[in-house]
Amino acid sequence: MKRISLGKNAIFLLAFVFLFSINDANAQRRKKKNKKEAVPTAPVKKPSKKKSIADLTKSSKKIEGLFTIYQDTVNGSIQMLVSEDQLGKEFIYFSQIADGVVDVGAFRGAYRGSKIFKIKRFYDKIEFITQNTSSYFDPDNAVAKAANANISKGIMASEKIAAHDKEKGLYLIKADNIFLKETLLQVKPPRFPGQPPTAFTLGNLDKGKTKVSGIRNYPENTDLQINYTYSKSSVLNNGSRGVTDGRNVSIKVYHSLIEMPDNNYQPRYDDPRVGFFTTQVTDMTSQSYTPYRDLVHRWYLEKKDPNAAMSEPVEPITWWIENTTPQEIRPIIKRAGLKWNEAFEKAGFKNAVVIKEQPDDADWDAGDIRYNVLRWTSSPNPPFGGYGPSFVNPRTGQILGADIMLEYGSLGNNLRNEGVFDKAGFEMYLGDYEEEAEYMKHDPAYCSAGQFAQLNNMFGMAALDAMGEGALEKSKMVEEFLHFLILHEMGHTLGLNHNMKSSQLHSLEDINNASITEKVGLIGSVMDYPAVNFSSDRSNQGNYWTKTPGPYDHWAIEFGYKPVNNQGELDAVLKRSTEHKLFFGNDADDMRAPGKAMDPRVNVGDLSSNAIDYAIQRMQLSKNVSKELLKKFSKDNQSYHSLRTSYLVVTGQQAGSANTISRYIGGVYVDRAFIGQDGGTKPFIPVEATKQRKAMKALETYVFSPNAFKVSDQLYGYLQMQRRGYNFFASPEDPKIHARILNMQRSVLRHVLHFNTMQRILDSQLYGNEYSLSSMMTDLNKAIFNADIYGNVNTSRQNLQLEYTNMLINALTGRINTRYPHAAKSMILHNLKSIQRMASNSNGNTASRAHKAHLKTLVDNALKEVK
Ligand SMILES: [Zn+2]
Repeated sequence: MKRISLGKNAIFLLAFVFLFSINDANAQRRKKKNKKEAVPTAPVKKPSKKKSIADLTKSSKKIEGLFTIYQDTVNGSIQMLVSEDQLGKEFIYFSQIADGVVDVGAFRGAYRGSKIFKIKRFYDKIEFITQNTSSYFDPDNAVAKAANANISKGIMASEKIAAHDKEKGLYLIKADNIFLKETLLQVKPPRFPGQPPTAFTLGNLDKGKTKVSGIRNYPENTDLQINYTYSKSSVLNNGSRGVTDGRNVSIKVYHSLIEMPDNNYQPRYDDPRVGFFTTQVTDMTSQSYTPYRDLVHRWYLEKKDPNAAMSEPVEPITWWIENTTPQEIRPIIKRAGLKWNEAFEKAGFKNAVVIKEQPDDADWDAGDIRYNVLRWTSSPNPPFGGYGPSFVNPRTGQILGADIMLEYGSLGNNLRNEGVFDKAGFEMYLGDYEEEAEYMKHDPAYCSAGQFAQLNNMFGMAALDAMGEGALEKSKMVEEFLHFLILHEMGHTLGLNHNMKSSQLHSLEDINNASITEKVGLIGSVMDYPAVNFSSDRSNQGNYWTKTPGPYDHWAIEFGYKPVNNQGELDAVLKRSTEHKLFFGNDADDMRAPGKAMDPRVNVGDLSSNAIDYAIQRMQLSKNVSKELLKKFSKDNQSYHSLRTSYLVVTGQQAGSANTISRYIGGVYVDRAFIGQDGGTKPFIPVEATKQRKAMKALETYVFSPNAFKVSDQLYGYLQMQRRGYNFFASPEDPKIHARILNMQRSVLRHVLHFNTMQRILDSQLYGNEYSLSSMMTDLNKAIFNADIYGNVNTSRQNLQLEYTNMLINALTGRINTRYPHAAKSMILHNLKSIQRMASNSNGNTASRAHKAHLKTLVDNALKEVK
């Protein structure tokens, strides 16, 4: 093939080789004088006639579109056409996983982002070059001439021109290297530092097994589906259930090359008071303190009638319910999705969202980027309960396509990953936060609302059982849950990120007032991760889950989508941000993990503007529900598996509630209002001392007290998993009750004793915090020791007291001690000495005396380490 495609440059190259051979021969001659004169023997090939595009594509199938593709009908290899008028132009590249394995984060429907590339000719080659979109230069500023300084563009591919049709202005290049290698996208994840050597990893890309598995070509986009295979000869870890053969793992990827949209779309710039996904762009020609031109991600909506206050859009945002969706839930999905139209009416659009059903005999599938699809999967190891990714034009932020992935399992009772219950309390409640954080680094649209809500819904179902409610109430709860999940994931695809502050909308009194919540929503935004709303008073039960986009959602859509003539009109929308119902704070601000963030109102799993009391009620309710579990979940001829799962779910609510309460200690309210904005307060206002003390008291009673987690002793003997094969090999099947209780307590302590929390308390004492670190630490010591240190200490309390003491010692002398402010360490030392004194008594039974001696020994030894 190479020989027959020789072009002008190749002939030049041959001539060069020829000359070099002569020189080389001369040198040889000089060296070996006595030898017979060598005769240059470089082959002189007659250049063959240049092959035309037609010659080179003779045995290929032609698939016409934005970039016409030729696929060889004998060996499947591909070539592509690039036209002269495409040179120098910008295109969008987008990729998503068609199918893969969750083990390496490559799961069905996962978006891999979009980027801009240009195609350029360099002598006899065609190059694909990624463009940098993170900087903006005002073209009127002379500095713009230096726009390329220190900005590296990425040459993804450089392919030799195989044939050139001058008349038609077409170049033919081989495309196997572009698509069949990881040229456009890194598919195989890198080995992360700290990744255990036993972790599941992919082998090397196997060229022989990697193939084109689908080509779709349209005037505006060229899509190729590639089946990448990674092979290795031996594996230590065979991966999860979804991996059939750990030595040969396939990942199918869609690559889309997309024409730049040609429309009147106007970028909208981000504002810190409202939560949209963005593409960050810095204005390099601005001298501002905040030279940000971050592009809000939003759809291009244009009014059919620009002069009407309310108009249908020229092109609505059209969704398709995938034909894999169970029939019975399609009407719920449709109803929920169309609810978003009410929000768009605030922005002046009628019927902005349209929902259709994909026919069973449709000739397109969800991987087709021209369709936005609500999809259902049931994965062996689901990475989410729901996921709502979108992809944008990186130059403008315009959303070009979106999908919603939902896991069928979220509707049921099969826990996604029971391992979460072996971890610290907040994780028991939330799923795996660290895993989520890892996913979010790659894709900020990653969402665990589904799995989070599932745990809550399972609690609600158990509570309904415990309260003797029937099937009707249960189906109401499940329907509201699904409705909420659709609203949430669809919100992501409209550009909205999470709003973990919005569950503070209603007072404790109003939260079950359905006449209010049906209308405005149970929470300010469907983009929250709220607790399921469950009333112990069964005569006063409002909505379990919110049923409508809330006031914040309406307002955010107004900001994102309202057609405006100038920034002033947007400022008028934004200045309402101080209204209580428009509260906003996202994942970066929420306090779910210990020591993270500072405003306790921005949290997951909380509800109402009196989140402490709501959490106390939930802890009481959980205790009552757990008393009924044995009776309600013991069914003849079944194992105790459902009883055990329900116990985990119910105590998970206790853990979540404990976390909600603990975040008020040392908390600081954050206000992002701009200066002079009506209703704006100081940016940082410490939580009222009375509220902090109340939180401490609640922890003392519901988390630390000697019988805080005591349920009926009878229950413990029944917490049995159903045996499955040899699954107990990994760890014994006993219910591990002490460990579970300690995990919940430790999770709270990890926050209260975190160096960030302690530092914040010391700092906030300077700007209004009246619950000082010394008061807090004194109260904490009392809460953990006063009830029993002078008498008998039960085994759960022994665990707690030792754990707490060890945490103090670790903060004072351990590896992390340098992170603690000196003043905090003084209080830690003070508390340890107090423990030493308290533990010096020899009251109580043998176990209690042994425990106190242990405590005292720990402190004695630790004090020797203090320098
Ligand atoms: Zn979400």
